[in-house]
Amino acid sequence: MGHQMFEYDAILTDAVFDYCRDRISMSPIPLDFGSLAKMPLADMDGLIRPEGHDPEEILAFFKNELAHAVISTDAPNFLAFIPNAPTKNSLLFDMVVACSGLHGTSWLESAGVVVAENQALAYLADLAGMPFGSGGAFVSGGSMGNLSGLTVGRDVGRTLRPTVAPHEVRFAISADAHSSIGKALHVLGVEPLLVTPDDHRFTREHLAEALAADPHPETVVGVVATAGTTNAGIVDDIEGLGSFAREHGLWYHVDGAYGGASLFSPTHRHLLEGIRHADSFVVDPHKWLFAPLDCAALVYRNPTVARKVLAQQASYLDVLHTGDDEHYEWNPSDFAIHLSRRARGLPFWYSLATNGTLAYETAVQAAIDLAERAAVMIDERDYVELVRPVSLSIVLFRRKGWNADQYTEWSHRLLRNQVAFVTPTKWEGETVGRFAFLHPDTSDELVREILESMRD
Ligand SMILES: *Cc1c(COP(=O)(O)O)cnc(C)c1O
Repeated sequence: MGHQMFEYDAILTDAVFDYCRDRISMSPIPLDFGSLAKMPLADMDGLIRPEGHDPEEILAFFKNELAHAVISTDAPNFLAFIPNAPTKNSLLFDMVVACSGLHGTSWLESAGVVVAENQALAYLADLAGMPFGSGGAFVSGGSMGNLSGLTVGRDVGRTLRPTVAPHEVRFAISADAHSSIGKALHVLGVEPLLVTPDDHRFTREHLAEALAADPHPETVVGVVATAGTTNAGIVDDIEGLGSFAREHGLWYHVDGAYGGASLFSPTHRHLLEGIRHADSFVVDPHKWLFAPLDCAALVYRNPTVARKVLAQQASYLDVLHTGDDEHYEWNPSDFAIHLSRRARGLPFWYSLATNGTLAYETAVQAAIDLAERAAVMIDERDYVELVRPVSLSIVLFRRKGWNADQYTEWSHRLLRNQVAFVTPTKWEGETVGRFAFLHPDTSDELVREILESMRD
Protein backbone atom coordinates (compact mmCIF):
# COMPACT_ATOMS: atom_id res chain seq x y z
CA MET A 1 0.00 0.00 0.00
CA GLY A 2 1.28 3.41 -0.91
CA HIS A 3 0.78 6.54 1.07
CA GLN A 4 -2.85 7.63 1.11
CA MET A 5 -2.02 11.04 -0.39
CA PHE A 6 -0.70 9.39 -3.54
CA GLU A 7 -3.60 7.08 -4.21
CA TYR A 8 -5.58 7.69 -7.36
CA ASP A 9 -9.16 8.74 -6.61
CA ALA A 10 -11.31 8.28 -9.69
CA ILE A 11 -14.35 10.05 -8.27
CA LEU A 12 -12.45 13.13 -7.14
CA THR A 13 -10.56 13.21 -10.44
CA ASP A 14 -13.89 13.29 -12.29
CA ALA A 15 -15.16 16.03 -10.01
CA VAL A 16 -12.10 18.22 -10.64
CA PHE A 17 -12.15 17.55 -14.38
CA ASP A 18 -15.87 18.35 -14.43
CA TYR A 19 -15.15 21.63 -12.68
CA CYS A 20 -12.46 22.47 -15.21
CA ARG A 21 -14.71 21.46 -18.11
CA ASP A 22 -17.52 23.67 -16.80
CA ARG A 23 -15.21 26.61 -16.28
CA ILE A 24 -13.50 26.39 -19.66
CA SER A 25 -16.80 26.00 -21.52
CA MET A 26 -18.48 29.04 -19.94
CA SER A 27 -19.68 31.55 -22.46
CA PRO A 28 -19.74 34.29 -21.46
CA ILE A 29 -17.18 33.95 -18.71
CA PRO A 30 -18.68 35.55 -15.58
CA LEU A 31 -16.80 38.62 -14.42
CA ASP A 32 -17.38 37.93 -10.69
CA PHE A 33 -16.69 40.29 -7.84
CA GLY A 34 -13.19 40.19 -6.38
CA SER A 35 -13.03 42.06 -3.09
CA LEU A 36 -16.59 43.34 -3.61
CA ALA A 37 -17.83 39.81 -2.89
CA LYS A 38 -18.87 38.85 0.62
CA MET A 39 -15.98 36.77 1.90
CA PRO A 40 -17.04 33.65 3.84
CA LEU A 41 -14.15 34.02 6.23
CA ALA A 42 -15.94 32.40 9.17
CA ASP A 43 -16.51 29.24 7.12
CA MET A 44 -12.79 28.83 6.77
CA ASP A 45 -12.08 28.59 10.47
CA GLY A 46 -10.42 25.30 11.33
CA LEU A 47 -10.25 24.17 7.72
CA ILE A 48 -6.64 23.22 8.14
CA ARG A 49 -6.37 20.73 10.97
CA PRO A 50 -4.76 17.35 11.68
CA GLU A 51 -7.47 15.32 9.89
CA GLY A 52 -8.31 16.17 6.33
CA HIS A 53 -11.71 17.16 4.96
CA ASP A 54 -13.81 15.63 2.24
CA PRO A 55 -12.13 16.87 -0.97
CA GLU A 56 -15.41 17.32 -2.81
CA GLU A 57 -16.75 19.46 -0.02
CA ILE A 58 -13.74 21.77 -0.19
CA LEU A 59 -13.94 21.85 -3.98
CA ALA A 60 -17.57 22.91 -3.67
CA PHE A 61 -16.60 25.59 -1.15
CA PHE A 62 -14.03 26.93 -3.61
CA LYS A 63 -16.50 26.82 -6.48
CA ASN A 64 -19.44 28.36 -4.62
CA GLU A 65 -17.68 30.88 -2.42
CA LEU A 66 -14.05 31.66 -3.13
CA ALA A 67 -14.19 31.66 -6.93
CA HIS A 68 -16.76 34.49 -6.91
CA ALA A 69 -14.37 36.62 -4.93
CA VAL A 70 -11.94 36.59 -7.86
CA ILE A 71 -12.52 38.81 -10.87
CA SER A 72 -12.04 36.76 -14.03
CA THR A 73 -9.18 38.42 -15.85
CA ASP A 74 -10.07 36.35 -18.91
CA ALA A 75 -13.58 37.80 -19.24
CA PRO A 76 -13.95 40.01 -22.34
CA ASN A 77 -15.36 42.74 -20.08
CA PHE A 78 -12.21 42.88 -17.93
CA LEU A 79 -10.70 46.15 -19.17
CA ALA A 80 -8.60 47.23 -16.19
CA PHE A 81 -4.83 47.07 -15.57
CA ILE A 82 -3.64 44.65 -18.25
CA PRO A 83 -6.03 41.69 -18.55
CA ASN A 84 -4.95 38.06 -18.90
CA ALA A 85 -6.96 36.19 -21.50
CA PRO A 86 -5.54 32.72 -22.09
CA THR A 87 -6.66 30.78 -25.15
CA LYS A 88 -8.59 27.59 -24.54
CA ASN A 89 -5.71 25.53 -25.89
CA SER A 90 -3.22 27.17 -23.55
CA LEU A 91 -5.48 26.52 -20.54
CA LEU A 92 -5.95 22.90 -21.46
CA PHE A 93 -2.26 22.41 -21.94
CA ASP A 94 -1.61 24.08 -18.60
CA MET A 95 -3.51 21.15 -17.10
CA VAL A 96 -1.24 18.79 -19.00
CA VAL A 97 1.80 20.56 -17.60
CA ALA A 98 0.34 20.37 -14.10
CA CYS A 99 -0.50 16.67 -14.31
CA SER A 100 2.74 15.54 -15.96
CA GLY A 101 5.16 16.46 -13.22
CA LEU A 102 7.09 18.58 -15.72
CA HIS A 103 10.08 20.44 -14.42
CA GLY A 104 11.64 23.20 -16.46
CA THR A 105 14.97 23.76 -14.82
CA SER A 106 17.65 22.03 -16.87
CA TRP A 107 18.46 20.33 -20.13
CA LEU A 108 19.57 17.22 -18.22
CA GLU A 109 16.19 16.68 -16.57
CA SER A 110 13.84 18.22 -19.07
CA ALA A 111 15.28 18.37 -22.58
CA GLY A 112 11.79 17.80 -23.96
CA VAL A 113 10.50 20.90 -22.19
CA VAL A 114 13.51 23.03 -23.06
CA VAL A 115 13.39 22.36 -26.83
CA ALA A 116 9.72 23.35 -26.96
CA GLU A 117 10.14 26.45 -24.81
CA ASN A 118 13.19 27.46 -26.83
CA GLN A 119 11.25 27.06 -30.05
CA ALA A 120 8.68 29.57 -28.78
CA LEU A 121 11.41 31.94 -27.55
CA ALA A 122 13.23 31.70 -30.88
CA TYR A 123 10.01 32.51 -32.71
CA LEU A 124 9.54 35.66 -30.63
CA ALA A 125 13.21 36.65 -31.00
CA ASP A 126 13.01 36.20 -34.75
CA LEU A 127 9.80 38.22 -34.95
CA ALA A 128 11.59 40.99 -33.06
CA GLY A 129 14.50 40.85 -35.54
CA MET A 130 17.01 39.65 -32.95
CA PRO A 131 19.84 37.55 -34.40
CA PHE A 132 19.85 33.78 -34.68
CA GLY A 133 21.16 32.30 -31.45
CA SER A 134 19.29 34.77 -29.23
CA GLY A 135 17.60 33.02 -26.35
CA GLY A 136 16.75 32.97 -22.70
CA ALA A 137 13.94 31.62 -20.58
CA PHE A 138 10.35 32.01 -19.60
CA VAL A 139 10.18 33.70 -16.21
CA SER A 140 7.36 34.52 -13.82
CA GLY A 141 6.61 37.95 -15.18
CA GLY A 142 7.87 41.16 -16.69
CA SER A 143 9.19 42.19 -13.29
CA MET A 144 11.47 39.17 -13.04
CA GLY A 145 12.45 39.57 -16.70
CA ASN A 146 13.40 43.19 -16.16
CA LEU A 147 15.35 42.44 -12.99
CA SER A 148 17.26 39.61 -14.66
CA GLY A 149 18.01 41.52 -17.87
CA LEU A 150 19.19 44.57 -15.95
CA THR A 151 21.37 42.44 -13.67
CA VAL A 152 23.25 41.15 -16.70
CA GLY A 153 23.40 44.68 -18.14
CA ARG A 154 24.83 46.06 -14.92
CA ASP A 155 27.55 43.42 -14.71
CA VAL A 156 28.47 43.77 -18.38
CA GLY A 157 28.56 47.55 -17.91
CA ARG A 158 30.90 47.21 -14.96
CA THR A 159 33.23 45.06 -17.04
CA LEU A 160 33.18 47.42 -20.01
CA ARG A 161 33.86 50.47 -17.82
CA PRO A 162 36.66 49.41 -15.51
CA THR A 163 37.45 53.03 -14.63
CA VAL A 164 33.95 53.57 -13.19
CA ALA A 165 33.51 52.38 -9.59
CA PRO A 166 31.14 49.35 -9.59
CA HIS A 167 28.57 51.06 -7.38
CA GLU A 168 28.51 54.11 -9.64
CA VAL A 169 27.22 52.53 -12.85
CA ARG A 170 23.82 53.86 -13.86
CA PHE A 171 21.01 53.16 -16.32
CA ALA A 172 19.16 55.82 -18.30
CA ILE A 173 15.41 55.33 -17.89
CA SER A 174 12.32 57.34 -18.67
CA ALA A 175 10.00 58.63 -15.97
CA ASP A 176 7.28 56.63 -17.76
CA ALA A 177 9.15 53.30 -17.43
CA HIS A 178 7.24 50.61 -15.55
CA SER A 179 7.49 50.59 -11.75
CA SER A 180 9.32 47.25 -11.94
CA ILE A 181 12.26 48.98 -13.66
CA GLY A 182 12.71 51.38 -10.75
CA LYS A 183 12.33 48.47 -8.34
CA ALA A 184 14.92 46.40 -10.23
CA LEU A 185 17.45 49.25 -10.11
CA HIS A 186 16.73 49.65 -6.40
CA VAL A 187 17.42 45.95 -5.82
CA LEU A 188 20.59 46.18 -7.91
CA GLY A 189 21.86 49.28 -6.13
CA VAL A 190 21.97 51.14 -9.45
CA GLU A 191 20.95 54.79 -9.69
CA PRO A 192 18.81 55.85 -12.63
CA LEU A 193 19.60 58.72 -14.94
CA LEU A 194 15.96 59.78 -15.01
CA VAL A 195 14.76 61.33 -18.25
CA THR A 196 11.39 63.10 -18.26
CA PRO A 197 10.13 63.67 -21.81
CA ASP A 198 7.35 66.29 -22.10
CA ASP A 199 5.17 64.04 -24.21
CA HIS A 200 6.08 60.88 -22.24
CA ARG A 201 7.85 59.24 -25.19
CA PHE A 202 11.55 58.56 -24.63
CA THR A 203 13.62 59.26 -27.77
CA ARG A 204 17.21 59.20 -28.95
CA GLU A 205 17.33 63.00 -28.68
CA HIS A 206 16.20 62.93 -25.04
CA LEU A 207 18.89 60.40 -24.22
CA ALA A 208 21.62 62.35 -26.02
CA GLU A 209 20.59 65.59 -24.30
CA ALA A 210 20.41 63.99 -20.86
CA LEU A 211 23.89 62.51 -21.28
CA ALA A 212 25.29 65.79 -22.59
CA ALA A 213 23.89 67.65 -19.58
CA ASP A 214 25.12 65.08 -17.05
CA PRO A 215 28.40 65.64 -15.17
CA HIS A 216 29.26 61.90 -15.28
CA PRO A 217 27.94 60.46 -18.54
CA GLU A 218 30.62 57.75 -18.49
CA THR A 219 28.80 56.11 -15.55
CA VAL A 220 25.73 55.42 -17.67
CA VAL A 221 26.18 51.85 -18.93
CA GLY A 222 22.73 51.06 -20.22
CA VAL A 223 19.36 52.33 -21.32
CA VAL A 224 15.84 50.99 -20.88
CA ALA A 225 13.17 51.56 -23.52
CA THR A 226 9.51 50.69 -23.09
CA ALA A 227 7.66 49.13 -26.01
CA GLY A 228 4.20 50.08 -24.83
CA THR A 229 3.86 51.82 -21.47
CA THR A 230 1.34 50.13 -19.23
CA ASN A 231 -0.61 53.24 -18.35
CA ALA A 232 -0.89 54.75 -21.83
CA GLY A 233 0.48 52.28 -24.40
CA ILE A 234 3.21 54.68 -25.55
CA VAL A 235 6.00 53.08 -27.56
CA ASP A 236 9.36 54.78 -27.01
CA ASP A 237 11.74 55.52 -29.87
CA ILE A 238 12.87 51.92 -29.91
CA GLU A 239 14.96 52.28 -33.07
CA GLY A 240 16.61 55.59 -32.12
CA LEU A 241 17.44 54.56 -28.56
CA GLY A 242 18.71 51.21 -29.82
CA SER A 243 21.02 52.63 -32.46
CA PHE A 244 22.33 55.15 -29.91
CA ALA A 245 22.99 52.33 -27.44
CA ARG A 246 24.85 50.34 -30.11
CA GLU A 247 26.98 53.33 -31.11
CA HIS A 248 27.91 54.12 -27.50
CA GLY A 249 28.40 50.63 -26.07
CA LEU A 250 25.37 50.80 -23.77
CA TRP A 251 23.35 47.76 -22.69
CA TYR A 252 19.97 48.05 -24.39
CA HIS A 253 17.01 46.60 -22.50
CA VAL A 254 13.57 46.74 -24.09
CA ASP A 255 10.60 46.24 -21.77
CA GLY A 256 7.78 45.01 -23.96
CA ALA A 257 5.93 43.18 -21.18
CA TYR A 258 2.62 44.52 -22.42
CA GLY A 259 3.22 46.03 -25.87
CA GLY A 260 5.82 43.61 -27.19
CA ALA A 261 2.86 41.55 -28.38
CA SER A 262 2.21 44.17 -31.05
CA LEU A 263 5.03 42.48 -32.98
CA PHE A 264 2.05 40.42 -34.15
CA SER A 265 0.14 43.49 -35.37
CA PRO A 266 0.36 44.08 -39.12
CA THR A 267 -0.37 47.80 -38.63
CA HIS A 268 1.83 48.52 -35.60
CA ARG A 269 4.77 46.13 -35.65
CA HIS A 270 6.93 48.71 -37.42
CA LEU A 271 6.99 50.72 -34.17
CA LEU A 272 8.95 47.88 -32.59
CA GLU A 273 11.54 47.42 -35.30
CA GLY A 274 14.38 48.66 -33.10
CA ILE A 275 14.08 45.66 -30.80
CA ARG A 276 16.58 44.10 -33.18
CA HIS A 277 19.21 46.18 -31.32
CA ALA A 278 18.22 44.87 -27.88
CA ASP A 279 20.65 43.08 -25.61
CA SER A 280 17.71 41.94 -23.50
CA PHE A 281 14.03 41.99 -24.35
CA VAL A 282 10.95 41.10 -22.32
CA VAL A 283 7.44 40.30 -23.52
CA ASP A 284 4.76 38.72 -21.34
CA PRO A 285 2.74 35.96 -23.02
CA HIS A 286 0.52 36.15 -19.92
CA LYS A 287 -0.56 39.60 -21.05
CA TRP A 288 -1.31 40.11 -24.72
CA LEU A 289 -0.13 36.76 -26.08
CA PHE A 290 -3.00 34.91 -24.49
CA ALA A 291 -1.14 32.49 -22.20
CA PRO A 292 -2.05 31.65 -18.62
CA LEU A 293 -0.22 33.23 -15.70
CA ASP A 294 2.61 33.23 -15.00
CA CYS A 295 4.64 33.53 -18.17
CA ALA A 296 7.06 36.17 -19.43
CA ALA A 297 9.59 35.64 -22.20
CA LEU A 298 13.08 36.97 -21.51
CA VAL A 299 15.38 36.95 -24.54
CA TYR A 300 19.07 37.88 -24.66
CA ARG A 301 21.00 38.72 -27.78
CA ASN A 302 23.94 36.84 -26.28
CA PRO A 303 22.72 34.10 -23.95
CA THR A 304 26.30 33.08 -23.08
CA VAL A 305 26.93 36.43 -21.41
CA ALA A 306 23.69 36.13 -19.42
CA ARG A 307 24.59 32.63 -18.30
CA LYS A 308 27.97 33.77 -17.04
CA VAL A 309 26.28 36.35 -14.82
CA LEU A 310 23.24 34.42 -13.64
CA ALA A 311 23.97 30.66 -13.52
CA GLN A 312 23.96 29.37 -9.97
CA GLN A 313 27.01 27.40 -8.97
CA ALA A 314 26.82 24.59 -6.45
CA SER A 315 28.55 21.22 -6.26
CA TYR A 316 25.29 19.34 -6.55
CA LEU A 317 24.49 21.33 -9.71
CA ASP A 318 27.79 20.65 -11.49
CA VAL A 319 26.21 17.82 -13.48
CA LEU A 320 23.96 20.38 -15.15
CA HIS A 321 26.90 22.33 -16.51
CA THR A 322 28.98 19.58 -18.00
CA GLY A 323 28.25 17.28 -20.87
CA ASP A 324 29.08 16.25 -24.42
CA ASP A 325 25.67 17.18 -25.66
CA GLU A 326 25.83 20.51 -27.50
CA HIS A 327 22.64 21.56 -25.72
CA TYR A 328 23.70 20.99 -22.15
CA GLU A 329 24.26 24.72 -21.71
CA TRP A 330 20.57 25.42 -22.39
CA ASN A 331 19.42 25.36 -18.83
CA PRO A 332 16.50 27.77 -18.43
CA SER A 333 17.56 28.15 -14.81
CA ASP A 334 20.77 29.87 -15.95
CA PHE A 335 19.12 32.86 -17.59
CA ALA A 336 17.30 34.54 -14.72
CA ILE A 337 17.24 34.90 -10.96
CA HIS A 338 15.61 31.57 -10.33
CA LEU A 339 16.52 27.89 -10.14
CA SER A 340 13.59 25.43 -9.94
CA ARG A 341 10.92 26.48 -12.35
CA ARG A 342 7.64 25.31 -13.77
CA ALA A 343 7.57 24.51 -17.50
CA ARG A 344 5.56 27.70 -17.82
CA GLY A 345 6.38 28.32 -21.47
CA LEU A 346 4.66 25.14 -22.66
CA PRO A 347 1.03 26.34 -22.59
CA PHE A 348 2.10 29.29 -24.76
CA TRP A 349 4.11 27.03 -27.07
CA TYR A 350 1.15 24.68 -27.47
CA SER A 351 -1.25 27.53 -28.19
CA LEU A 352 1.09 29.10 -30.73
CA ALA A 353 1.69 25.77 -32.47
CA THR A 354 -1.95 24.73 -32.55
CA ASN A 355 -3.66 28.05 -33.29
CA GLY A 356 -0.95 29.23 -35.66
CA THR A 357 0.65 32.65 -35.78
CA LEU A 358 -2.01 34.09 -38.10
CA ALA A 359 -4.63 33.65 -35.38
CA TYR A 360 -2.31 35.59 -33.05
CA GLU A 361 -2.08 38.37 -35.63
CA THR A 362 -5.83 38.75 -35.90
CA ALA A 363 -6.36 38.52 -32.13
CA VAL A 364 -3.74 41.18 -31.32
CA GLN A 365 -4.97 43.40 -34.13
CA ALA A 366 -8.56 43.15 -32.87
CA ALA A 367 -7.67 44.97 -29.65
CA ILE A 368 -5.83 47.73 -31.51
CA ASP A 369 -8.73 48.20 -33.93
CA LEU A 370 -11.24 48.29 -31.07
CA ALA A 371 -9.19 50.98 -29.31
CA GLU A 372 -9.39 53.08 -32.44
CA ARG A 373 -13.16 52.58 -32.72
CA ALA A 374 -13.53 53.43 -29.01
CA ALA A 375 -11.79 56.75 -29.72
CA VAL A 376 -14.43 57.50 -32.34
CA MET A 377 -17.23 56.60 -29.90
CA ILE A 378 -15.68 59.00 -27.37
CA ASP A 379 -15.46 61.78 -29.97
CA GLU A 380 -19.16 61.29 -30.71
CA ARG A 381 -20.20 62.02 -27.10
CA ASP A 382 -19.94 65.55 -25.74
CA TYR A 383 -19.58 64.55 -22.06
CA VAL A 384 -16.38 62.57 -22.61
CA GLU A 385 -13.14 63.30 -24.45
CA LEU A 386 -9.83 61.63 -25.20
CA VAL A 387 -7.02 62.63 -22.86
CA ARG A 388 -4.40 61.77 -25.51
CA PRO A 389 -4.39 59.87 -28.78
CA VAL A 390 -4.93 56.12 -28.51
CA SER A 391 -1.67 54.13 -28.33
CA LEU A 392 -1.68 50.41 -29.08
CA SER A 393 -4.76 49.10 -27.25
CA ILE A 394 -4.93 51.65 -24.41
CA VAL A 395 -7.48 54.46 -24.35
CA LEU A 396 -7.29 57.31 -21.82
CA PHE A 397 -10.42 59.40 -21.63
CA ARG A 398 -12.04 62.01 -19.44
CA ARG A 399 -15.61 62.33 -18.18
CA LYS A 400 -15.87 66.11 -18.20
CA GLY A 401 -16.58 67.50 -14.75
CA TRP A 402 -15.92 64.34 -12.74
CA ASN A 403 -13.68 64.12 -9.69
CA ALA A 404 -11.76 61.06 -8.48
CA ASP A 405 -14.59 59.87 -6.23
CA GLN A 406 -17.04 59.88 -9.11
CA TYR A 407 -14.73 57.66 -11.18
CA THR A 408 -14.36 55.25 -8.24
CA GLU A 409 -18.10 55.10 -7.63
CA TRP A 410 -18.71 54.49 -11.34
CA SER A 411 -16.09 51.74 -11.48
CA HIS A 412 -17.62 49.92 -8.49
CA ARG A 413 -21.10 50.27 -9.91
CA LEU A 414 -20.06 48.68 -13.22
CA LEU A 415 -18.47 45.79 -11.35
CA ARG A 416 -21.41 45.31 -8.98
CA ASN A 417 -23.73 45.20 -12.00
CA GLN A 418 -21.31 42.81 -13.74
CA VAL A 419 -21.13 45.10 -16.78
CA ALA A 420 -17.36 45.44 -16.84
CA PHE A 421 -14.27 45.89 -14.74
CA VAL A 422 -12.87 49.30 -15.65
CA THR A 423 -10.65 51.20 -13.24
CA PRO A 424 -9.54 54.82 -13.39
CA THR A 425 -5.90 55.88 -13.59
CA LYS A 426 -4.01 59.14 -13.27
CA TRP A 427 -2.63 61.13 -16.14
CA GLU A 428 -0.46 64.15 -15.34
CA GLY A 429 -2.01 64.23 -11.89
CA GLU A 430 -5.62 64.05 -13.04
CA THR A 431 -7.91 61.05 -12.44
CA VAL A 432 -9.14 59.77 -15.82
CA GLY A 433 -10.86 56.75 -17.33
CA ARG A 434 -8.83 54.02 -18.98
CA PHE A 435 -9.58 51.06 -21.24
CA ALA A 436 -6.97 48.34 -21.67
CA PHE A 437 -8.26 46.20 -24.51
CA LEU A 438 -6.87 42.75 -24.99
CA HIS A 439 -9.55 40.07 -25.39
CA PRO A 440 -10.50 39.77 -29.08
CA ASP A 441 -14.15 39.16 -28.08
CA THR A 442 -14.60 42.51 -26.34
CA SER A 443 -17.46 44.11 -28.26
CA ASP A 444 -18.27 47.58 -29.52
CA GLU A 445 -21.61 47.25 -27.72
CA LEU A 446 -19.85 46.85 -24.40
CA VAL A 447 -17.71 49.94 -24.98
CA ARG A 448 -20.83 51.89 -25.91
CA GLU A 449 -22.63 50.67 -22.79
CA ILE A 450 -19.73 51.72 -20.58
CA LEU A 451 -19.55 55.16 -22.15
CA GLU A 452 -23.33 55.57 -21.78
CA SER A 453 -23.01 54.68 -18.09
CA MET A 454 -20.98 57.87 -17.63
CA ARG A 455 -23.63 60.10 -19.10
CA ASP A 456 -25.06 61.14 -15.73
C1 LIG B 1 3.07 44.48 -16.68
C2 LIG B 1 4.34 45.15 -16.99
C3 LIG B 1 5.50 44.84 -16.30
C4 LIG B 1 5.50 43.87 -15.14
O1 LIG B 1 5.18 42.61 -15.59
P1 LIG B 1 4.62 41.49 -14.57
O2 LIG B 1 4.40 40.34 -15.49
O3 LIG B 1 3.37 42.05 -13.99
O4 LIG B 1 5.67 41.26 -13.55
C5 LIG B 1 6.67 45.45 -16.67
N1 LIG B 1 6.69 46.34 -17.67
C6 LIG B 1 5.58 46.68 -18.37
C7 LIG B 1 5.70 47.66 -19.47
C8 LIG B 1 4.36 46.09 -18.04
O5 LIG B 1 3.27 46.42 -18.73
